[in-house]
Amino acid sequence: MLKLCEPHRFNQENSQVFMNSPSATSWHDITSDEILEKLAVQPNVGLSSEEVVTLQQRFGPNQMTPQKQTPTWLRFLLQFHQPLIYILLSASIITLALSEFVDSAVIFAVIMINAIIGFIQESKAEEAIKALSNMVVTQAKVRRDGKIKTLPSHEIVPGDIVILQSGDLVPADLRLIKIQSLQIEEAALTGESVPVSKQTDPISQSAILAERTNSAFMGTLVTYGQGEGVVCAISDLTEIGKIADMIEQAETLLTPLSNKINRFSRLLLIIILSLAAVCFIIGLLRGESGKDTFMASVALAVATIPEGLPAAMTITLAIGVSRMARMRAIIRKLPAVETLGSTTVICSDKTGTLTQNKMTTREIFAGGQLYEVTGSGYEPEGEIRHRGKPASSNDDPALTETLIAGLLCNDSVITSDPDGYLVVQGDPTEAALIVSANKAGLEREHFDEKLPRLDSIPFESEYKYMATLHGADQKPEVIYVKGALESLIHRCSNQLNHNGDLEPIAPEQILHTADNMASNGLRVLAFASRKISSMVNEFDHEHIAEGLTFLGLQGKIDLPRTEAIEAVAKCRAAGIKVKMITGDHALTASHIATRMGLESGKAIDGESLSHLDDETLAKTVEEISVFARVAPEQKLRLVKALQTNGHIVAMTGDGVNDAPALKQADIGIAMGISGTDVSKAAADMILTDDNFSSIEAAVEEGRAVNDNLAKFITWTLPTNFGEGLVILLSIILGTQLPILPVQILWINMTTAILLGLMLVLEPKEPHIMDVPPRKTSAPILTKKLQLRVLIVSILMLIGCFSLFTWEINRGTPIAHARTIAVNLFVFIELFYLFNCRCLTRSMFTIGLFTNRWLIAGVCATILLQMAYTYIPFMNSIFQSAPITPADWIRIISIGFAVYMIVGLEKILTNKFRPEI
Ligand code: ATP
Repeated sequence: MLKLCEPHRFNQENSQVFMNSPSATSWHDITSDEILEKLAVQPNVGLSSEEVVTLQQRFGPNQMTPQKQTPTWLRFLLQFHQPLIYILLSASIITLALSEFVDSAVIFAVIMINAIIGFIQESKAEEAIKALSNMVVTQAKVRRDGKIKTLPSHEIVPGDIVILQSGDLVPADLRLIKIQSLQIEEAALTGESVPVSKQTDPISQSAILAERTNSAFMGTLVTYGQGEGVVCAISDLTEIGKIADMIEQAETLLTPLSNKINRFSRLLLIIILSLAAVCFIIGLLRGESGKDTFMASVALAVATIPEGLPAAMTITLAIGVSRMARMRAIIRKLPAVETLGSTTVICSDKTGTLTQNKMTTREIFAGGQLYEVTGSGYEPEGEIRHRGKPASSNDDPALTETLIAGLLCNDSVITSDPDGYLVVQGDPTEAALIVSANKAGLEREHFDEKLPRLDSIPFESEYKYMATLHGADQKPEVIYVKGALESLIHRCSNQLNHNGDLEPIAPEQILHTADNMASNGLRVLAFASRKISSMVNEFDHEHIAEGLTFLGLQGKIDLPRTEAIEAVAKCRAAGIKVKMITGDHALTASHIATRMGLESGKAIDGESLSHLDDETLAKTVEEISVFARVAPEQKLRLVKALQTNGHIVAMTGDGVNDAPALKQADIGIAMGISGTDVSKAAADMILTDDNFSSIEAAVEEGRAVNDNLAKFITWTLPTNFGEGLVILLSIILGTQLPILPVQILWINMTTAILLGLMLVLEPKEPHIMDVPPRKTSAPILTKKLQLRVLIVSILMLIGCFSLFTWEINRGTPIAHARTIAVNLFVFIELFYLFNCRCLTRSMFTIGLFTNRWLIAGVCATILLQMAYTYIPFMNSIFQSAPITPADWIRIISIGFAVYMIVGLEKILTNKFRPEI
């Protein structure tokens, strides 16, 4: 028997026993009563609010002290740790040694600007990701002031009584005081992935962590059953806090795409160095001076480096993550941003994700009679009618028992929020049962008093039922069970007839009625009871294995979400298949699938699925859209089958047993509201509103990220290649360089920042969901885009080289001719930028002013080019010179011509080679 203590006896002294003494971990070798006594906590009351305040002040929040971050200076230095920057650094040092001070200074300035931009962007992206992960606050259930409260885990203090149930993340180190079949997966701590069965007896002082079965440790996951424990250690003093390295899972900014781009940069590096070497050798063979040849090789190298690429990468991903968060999809693992864009199948739960999860009982079947229920939502207005006449709970004992079972075998509560709206705490399925009972005049308080709950078996989708044990004066009298009809009917031996008498069960009539309800889209719950006078063992599944009395059925309507219907239609247009995976009945699910416009309303149930071999399953998953009565383990098989067929699978899940499927899926999606901590920990993405339309919105954003990166690369490469080719040709032909290294750097830096980076801010294209998904194995640039890059590079080469040669031949001074060449490059890029705003169609299909950043960037570029051309100071740094209006006309005409040619190329390839 626990010793009762006054609430204020939880004092600093006894708390210190656990928190500050060297024997901080010695609470597993004493009994739970002793520990409660030491902490002066009453398990059924918990701490008082005043005690909590004192303890929070004393021990601080239940959060790990953040690990030391990489120092800022080191993070800045790391910006230089890139192969392409090495080339620039060497170029800067060698030009300095050759006393080319301006060149050296400009190259160095470019490196610094690059590092600063990279540094700022990276810090911002990391902050954004950190802020997002903070949004996923884990909640804990505690008992304080005698009431159960749900609060953020960081508010927990030593001495709190924590209530655990399957799916929860253990919020602090606990000494268990009460358990019911509790199993905890402690892989985070011990590496052992098989869940440990817990108990409450003391164990030897020397037991190692994995053997301390009477304790639950922070960060581990409850996989089964229920339990209660008292908090013995929080934050850094917990077992996991002591090995903090393990928990700090810093999100890196590396994704498959960034790896692809890194590989691409390395390849580029080799090409650049080889070209520069070839260039140098040709120059020397032609008898040019060593210094001039070297400067030309430097020009070639700096020209071909796409400086803006790393920054564009980071910014695009960071923008994607924050846009998705606005769409209520929190990204937990960065690669998900790109994978989302390639999703080909979305497997979604039904209840709450595709449907509203606002249940209203419409039909009741009890005592062989069918009743209809009027009213809607959780408002108590409405009545129960039989053949058009109001039914009375006094005249219909079977109906009354069915309603009482629904009222008592129930963990949900309906309350009013401050604005007077009715809100449900708990499961809406259960809330609907409270409302239907209220409509018959049955009130919960009355029955709670008459038949208080003694024990319960919570609902688990594995069993598909929930049971409660009731009786006055702590004596068991009756068990109420509710759940899926298939899970209950074979346990029932008799049924209650209309007069309230027992008769042998008639399963055909019941099953037929349930099927009728389900094919009208109603979600059917069955109710049963069992009288009991004594109980030898603890209340368990065996008590409801047989001998139950069938009471009745309640059929509830759960309407589809309107926005989900629209989202399903969008997915279909985008070539993405939507599959409904549900624990509900096949007929109910099929009816809803048809209403939602899923590809086919064809359903298969878990039972039939289990008979299919892998090969047949792979075929079946393609044809069928509804998977009903699916056990969570079967979800894993479904994901694998879809993946065998080459699909990129996004899969939703909320329960503990969904975790393996979420991990296996390419995008595991957990539910922010109804999901368990276990599912959230396994997921790549969390939906804060549990809504299917948010998944579709995130897929759209994922596509936009991939699109914008492709746009940036398609835009930037021709500049680099074009410049490289101009220099290579001039060395081969032995002519003067049309553009100097410093001028190339000027072009690359100004345009990459002011033009290129504006491209990654493009809003998503309206047609983005009208095309089939992109293959993940596909290169970043399709063949079509590779061809475009080649065409534009050659156009740049021809335009620049011929205009420059023409100017020189007609006696234009070299500085003037080079300024024309530089401006030509910039203006071709500027016009070409508009081509790149939409890769497949004309820019006008998305509107000229839809990206204001880009317009601002274009204006800024023009102003800078004016400064470059006309300000004497710039002329002396960059060896530029003022040019004439006639020059401008030629430059702009060539730029516009390139725009028109690319436009024509788009039309032609769309017409003749749309497949490439
Ligand atoms: P989805 O998997 O799409 O969310 P679901 O909510 O129907 O669909 P589960 O939660 O696994 O899936 O429920 C499966 C079945 O278990 C339900 O169809 C219902 O018959 C029964 N059930 C659901 N909730 C409860 C509950 N709280 N108590 C008893 N039985 C329940």
